Amino acid sequence: NNTTSSNFIKNIITEDLKSGKHKEIITRFPPEPNGYLHIGHAKSIVINFGLADEFNGKTNLRFDDTNPLKEDVEFVESIKEDVKWLGYEWEELHYASNYFDEMYDRAVLLINKGLAYVEDLSVDEIREYRGTLKEPGKESPSRSRSIEENLDLFERMKNGEFQNGEKVLRAKIDMSSPNINLRDPVIYRISHATHHNTGDKWCIYPMYAYAHPLEDAIEGITHSICTLEFEDQRPLYNWVVEHCEMDAKPQQIEFARLNVTNTVMSKRKLKQLVDEKYVDGWDDPRMPTISGLRRKGYTPESIRNFCRETGVAKNYGVVDVQMMEHFIREDLKLKAPRTMGVLKPLKVVITNYPENQVEMLDAEINPEVPEMGTRQIPFSREIYIEQDDFMEDPPKKYFRLFPGNEVRLKHAYFIKCEEVIKDDEGNVVELRCTYDPETKSGTGFTGRKVKGTLHWVEATQAIAAEYRIYEPLILDEEQGEGESFLDNVNPNSLEIVQGFVEPNMKDAKPQDKFQFFRHGYFNVDPKHTTEEKLVFNQIVSLKSSFKL
Ligand code: ATP
Ligand code: MG
Ligand code: MG
Repeated sequence: NNTTSSNFIKNIITEDLKSGKHKEIITRFPPEPNGYLHIGHAKSIVINFGLADEFNGKTNLRFDDTNPLKEDVEFVESIKEDVKWLGYEWEELHYASNYFDEMYDRAVLLINKGLAYVEDLSVDEIREYRGTLKEPGKESPSRSRSIEENLDLFERMKNGEFQNGEKVLRAKIDMSSPNINLRDPVIYRISHATHHNTGDKWCIYPMYAYAHPLEDAIEGITHSICTLEFEDQRPLYNWVVEHCEMDAKPQQIEFARLNVTNTVMSKRKLKQLVDEKYVDGWDDPRMPTISGLRRKGYTPESIRNFCRETGVAKNYGVVDVQMMEHFIREDLKLKAPRTMGVLKPLKVVITNYPENQVEMLDAEINPEVPEMGTRQIPFSREIYIEQDDFMEDPPKKYFRLFPGNEVRLKHAYFIKCEEVIKDDEGNVVELRCTYDPETKSGTGFTGRKVKGTLHWVEATQAIAAEYRIYEPLILDEEQGEGESFLDNVNPNSLEIVQGFVEPNMKDAKPQDKFQFFRHGYFNVDPKHTTEEKLVFNQIVSLKSSFKL
């Protein structure tokens, strides 16, 4: 279901289809392959592919690979995988670099029309000449070059006769425009670098503001949706399409980029976290990348719903990260099997339970979905409970285990704590309890009530499991002068503990998701799980105070 509430982009498209301006819409998702996709890109993917689905149009995946220095095939492959995983199919796959010949020809056309010139000034000088919002720019001496000279110099730029930075090609628009983007923007620069797709064929590369409108027009994109920072570039976008004499006239439409609390989303920053080893790769479960979210246990459905429900806006806003957590809980609530796992085990010996006896207990796989059936869990004289579920000296209103208190073991019996065993240092290492056979779960016992219900696993058959518990990678603290976002990296973002799961978990596969009773949702980690050891990533705890 791709229907979202109506938004201003849909209104434009509806109008364009009604008026006959377009018979069919074509959108595109145009990542630069200089990093892995993150949740902000997911937003753009959901908008672009979602609009095409809703209006029976098409969406192209286009690698905006016009900068040879930062791009890599590793990123190309990961981006394709992530788009597919999110559940979308592109119509055509393109590389902007495949349009370099056409872009060059169009630049020559501009020169021939007296609308572009080769500039000798340095980058700094160009900036200085450009002026400010308050003062008009100053025309460069290069501006009055003849068409012949410009054609000759541009060709020599292409042929590699100049060093990086020695010359650029500029569009000749208006040095006194109130829109600084129109003060003769640079449209080609020299970069002697090997490109991942075109190799060493080119040493001049088109600038984004020139390349992007051409890419859109070449593909016949009808609606080119981008983020608000590009609003001031729209007149330049239209100028390029018009003066390069493109047949198609794509319309640029801007919306506010997605920002999420406790999350950095610039690829440059994410790359820094990877390169400087704050995390163990782009797919670290703490990363807001699609691959990180996938490994943490987010589902495509939950990400799509999050992106849709946060809407399309014209103003900046910050979305609470708890909103993402809300959508994964919603998605897994009815899908994930329930189970029990102990994170920090404390041994309990049930002294009045027969030795060498193991009984199998029935437990629902998901009480909200009875069709999912039941599982069998063993129970015996020795079990593990959570260390945090016992206190020797509890405060008032502590309903878990303490000396003399009785609690319910989920799916099993009531047990009562009779004795506490400690090691030489005084640490509690074992509890001796008794159980009451009358209280067996499912028998309808109503003789007396207890207030606490604990999870547990049977000790002799339990499977060892590693749990990875996460806190936000980035703390939302005000950054002081001279501080970088790295000063906000949370030193406690990952806690690893060794515990146990029920034996019926032995067949769990990487990426399987479960709801652990009282602990929340977990995903089997695909990277660290081995034949010998299951590793679980906590996706999200069970509840939060967050309300939509
Ligand atoms: P970053 O600054 O993280 O590198 P980018 O915009 O440079 O992001 P691109 O690869 O150019 O990255 O992005 C591809 C598409 O995704 C663009 O159309 C861009 O507008 C969109 N996009 C990127 N970040 C966000 C975001 N936070 N919210 C919405 N759309 C985004
Ligand atoms: Mg970009
Ligand atoms: Mg970028």
